[in-house]
Amino acid sequence: MPTVILGGGISGLTAAYYLLKKNCTSIALLEASNRFGGWIKSNKQKNDSIFEEGPRTIRPRGNPGINTLNLIDDLGLSENILPIKNDSAVARNRMIYAGGELHSLPNTFSSLLKVQKPFSKPLLMHLLQDLVTKPKIVKDESIYNFTRRRFGDEVAEYLISPLIRGICAGNAQEVSVNFLMKKLFDYEQKYGSISKGIVKHVFNKNTQIPKGKLAKKALEENWNVYSFRNGLETLPIKLETFLSSSTHVNLCKNFKVSEIKFKKNGALIKLDDGHSINYSHVISSLSAKTLAPLINNQHPQLASMLNNIKFVTVGVINLEFKGHLIESPGFGFLVPPKEKLSILGVIYDSCCHSYQNTVLTVMMGGYWFESLFGENPINEDLLKIALKDVKTTLQINSEPINYKVNILRDCIPQYIVGHQENLHKIETYIKTNNLPLSLCGSSYYGIGVNDVILSSKNVVENVNFSVG
Ligand SMILES: Cc1cc2nc3c(=O)[nH]c(=O)nc-3n(C[C@H](O)[C@H](O)[C@H](O)COP(=O)(O)OP(=O)(O)OC[C@H]3O[C@@H](n4cnc5c(N)ncnc54)[C@H](O)[C@@H]3O)c2cc1C
Repeated sequence: MPTVILGGGISGLTAAYYLLKKNCTSIALLEASNRFGGWIKSNKQKNDSIFEEGPRTIRPRGNPGINTLNLIDDLGLSENILPIKNDSAVARNRMIYAGGELHSLPNTFSSLLKVQKPFSKPLLMHLLQDLVTKPKIVKDESIYNFTRRRFGDEVAEYLISPLIRGICAGNAQEVSVNFLMKKLFDYEQKYGSISKGIVKHVFNKNTQIPKGKLAKKALEENWNVYSFRNGLETLPIKLETFLSSSTHVNLCKNFKVSEIKFKKNGALIKLDDGHSINYSHVISSLSAKTLAPLINNQHPQLASMLNNIKFVTVGVINLEFKGHLIESPGFGFLVPPKEKLSILGVIYDSCCHSYQNTVLTVMMGGYWFESLFGENPINEDLLKIALKDVKTTLQINSEPINYKVNILRDCIPQYIVGHQENLHKIETYIKTNNLPLSLCGSSYYGIGVNDVILSSKNVVENVNFSVG
């Protein structure tokens, strides 16, 4: 019986890729929609600029970053990469909008020593506060409370809150410290302060995934982030081509799973067109919210744990204006929640790619989507709000010559306080009930592209699938 992968986003596609590399000879990938790639969607416009509807950049660092670069290398996509190097204006200039103005965040050691608005004292002083702050032993806490305790109010308000908005469109007051700062949190819990932990671990390097040619190049050339010349969708498109050339993989579009029934030796997958198919093992790359109702009849307890993982909706507004209108080139800016603007932030796409016009992406809503825009806002209303805030923040008064509005429902999971404990319970339930089910994708072990690719690799490495 074949192994089945549910969902054909980047996580499902890479799970199929790694299974194939492991010599698995019978793989089916079921995707509900008529395309692969999931949230990764790059729309080329008439004048060659690209509107990214979902993710746009990937970080090259750490094991997850190295792993993705090795994959890109293996797929022969190295030449298609568009790196953004550490010394470029785009990498150096990340801003926040506070008190009616855009402020560059400190990006050099010397800038840590200066008073830079909106901070009232040099950032280094905030960081040194860690040395004299007593530890508080807790199981988990919000990233906001943790940074506030260790570094003060301003770091929590102006650095961490906007950062969490930028990464997961979430509320730092609810997102777990383990989401982004697990190591720092562990240092405090173990050694009493972050600084002491860093000193103790300075020579203690984690085991690293061996770097391929591209990962070495990224390190040598000091890449900050990267994308692809034709947009991030280059990666899932190439994976689809690669997988479809294999006789061992059956790629199925328009196959929407409606129920999963686990049996003694495998699982029966029911589709919404009434068909059912037996498989030996299920790898689900579906979001926890999508998976929960599929198993609810047979495993309500597991469904309830999956439903503990909450999701937010994001409005993504791609805009193109004639000419070059960005005064201070950079990656873009984020808006702290206390600023009362309706947008989460703006990405300056035309600074990352060299387009002939100004291309921006405005991110809206997230944790605050329903409270700001109601349950079912119309696209035109979101566009109006986005344009108003772009005018306020960037003084762009002209009308866009091109735009696209997308409302991405439940697109980003929120790793709120208690996420790790819930995840542990989910894993334990699957193990004790001997379910032939493995989980990958953004709901569990990290929400970025790198994380979900690594989660697929780990699933394939850790489970003993029958080969064939
Ligand atoms: C607006 C936005 C911006 C982002 N920016 C970045 C960024 O810059 N960098 C970064 O690293 N990450 C970013 N991310 C995160 C990144 O997009 C995700 O980590 C990644 O795309 C998740 O991939 P996935 O395969 O796990 O899930 P998905 O892409 O959600 O794929 C799941 C697939 O399952 C299919 N499916 C659903 N229901 C069923 C069913 N019943 N049966 C069969 N198939 C089904 C769906 O159609 C979909 O194709 C961003 C995310 C969003 C939403």
